[in-house]
Amino acid sequence: MQTLPFGTEPIVVNRPTIGAGRSLVGLSRTEIGERLLEIGIPEKQIKMRTNQVWHWIYYQGVKTFDDMLNVSKDIRQKLADNFTIGRPEIIEALVSKDGTRKWLMKFSDGNEVETVFIPDEAKDRGTLCISSQVGCTLTCKFCHTGTQRLVRNLTAAEIVMQFLVARDYLGEWPTPSEGRVLSSVVMMGMGEPLYNFDNVKAALKIIMDEQGISLSRRRITLSTSGVVPEMKRCGDEIGVNLAISLHAVNNEVRNEIMPINKKYPLEELLTACRDYPGAKASRRITFEYIMLKGINDSDEDARALVHILKKYDIHAKVNLIPFNPWPGSNYERSDDNQIKRFSEYVFDKGISAPIRSPRGEDILAACGQLKSESEKKRKYALLKQKTE
Ligand code: SAH
Ligand code: SF4
Repeated sequence: MQTLPFGTEPIVVNRPTIGAGRSLVGLSRTEIGERLLEIGIPEKQIKMRTNQVWHWIYYQGVKTFDDMLNVSKDIRQKLADNFTIGRPEIIEALVSKDGTRKWLMKFSDGNEVETVFIPDEAKDRGTLCISSQVGCTLTCKFCHTGTQRLVRNLTAAEIVMQFLVARDYLGEWPTPSEGRVLSSVVMMGMGEPLYNFDNVKAALKIIMDEQGISLSRRRITLSTSGVVPEMKRCGDEIGVNLAISLHAVNNEVRNEIMPINKKYPLEELLTACRDYPGAKASRRITFEYIMLKGINDSDEDARALVHILKKYDIHAKVNLIPFNPWPGSNYERSDDNQIKRFSEYVFDKGISAPIRSPRGEDILAACGQLKSESEKKRKYALLKQKTE
């Protein structure tokens, strides 16, 4: 991967999406075939043309029909007259001191979302953190996204676009057969993915498709705050890894910090985890646990955590996330030595519980800091000035 100084990246000028309805991105093969038929492409060519278009969009990563070299000129013209495969407008592209990148993109109705790329230590691999909604209807007390008023589901196109844009910036087209820099995906950006099930499913199917991006389902993790009724469907129909935002070990505390717990209490959540399709030793469920000082970080909490995971016989690993503060948040990060103590206790009982170091804090890209209102954009502008 090329190394860039931290601060802002030059923004790739993309042809704006001219009306989301005309984009071919985010459609299934059948839907693309239907669109091609509508513009008069002969029925006997539909399958072949669909495969060509798919290959150019998702394997080669082209942004215009002109670049689809093995498609005849008149068909290219016809496609360009009727459809688009352009990217959304990129409002901001930031690079953190630690190499984390963040893109703020704007869709055709003016709504914005954030996508974050987190390189690993060696910088030759990394994880893309994708958003599923603009904002979030759930109001977890520790999460900045939950304070955003405006909420809507992202379309499948908008979810896939986040992946395509990251690839554009990482210069990773055509899809490499091995040694990918963008090597895994987490649905852990803004929003609750299981409240946007159909679009998330459609988008992830495209990202996994073997004729295109071809990312293995083992390299994709969907994180939920605990939308119990959709969890089984997630395993059955999408088949990706599951992460649960747990954050508390009893209903009292969880009700307080994650209101969704009043609807789907811990017992139901843990039962759904135990029954998650495909959950076995080789495919453990990840439990995210934010360390909030004085709220959920005591020795007793550590004991209770181990107890409930064992009681429900869940093949689990725990990610301990030191709380990332944001302007106006009411919590404090637990002390380092308490986080360490907590982690050691859980490890000691045979459950992996690494401490996740916060990434991209200087560009507000860390977990739970994503939000996209104009008020925050002004903050980015200030940050930008500081880092330039
Ligand atoms: N809505 C889903 C997907 C978003 S994931 C979910 O909640 O699982 C966002 C992750 O960041 C979740 O694990 C969330 O609990 C965590 N998070 C939210 N606010 C945070 C903060 N201030 N500091 C650290 N992690 C946070
Ligand atoms: Fe929504 Fe997840 Fe944030 Fe809770 S933690 S407000 S569910 S994005």
